[in-house]
Amino acid sequence: MHELSIVLSIIDGVTEEAELRGARGVSAVHLRLGALSGVVKPALLFAYDLACEGTLLQGSQLIVEESPMVVHCPACDADRTIESPQSFRCPFCGAYAANISRGHEIQVVAMELV
Ligand SMILES: [Zn+2]
Repeated sequence: MHELSIVLSIIDGVTEEAELRGARGVSAVHLRLGALSGVVKPALLFAYDLACEGTLLQGSQLIVEESPMVVHCPACDADRTIESPQSFRCPFCGAYAANISRGHEIQVVAMELV
């Protein structure tokens, strides 16, 4: 299960950081999930609840912020946000833009410690 291995690495990283800061526990983890990350959000949340048992993160909430795909448009020479991953066209000028700048990220952006 892809999501479980992602969750385990999130828990590892957050636990390390929480211990460094002397936290007694973690109440929430904020995660940024790119539109192209290939992660199924309900599966991720399910795996998170299971994997947090017995760790500093037990009972914490995983707050997922889904971020859109961003491509670099060669015609505009600018980064453009694309709403649907089915289309690789610049929403501004319509040019084909296949250089993905952002969208694959699975990144912990914040954590709430107790
Ligand atoms: Zn463009």
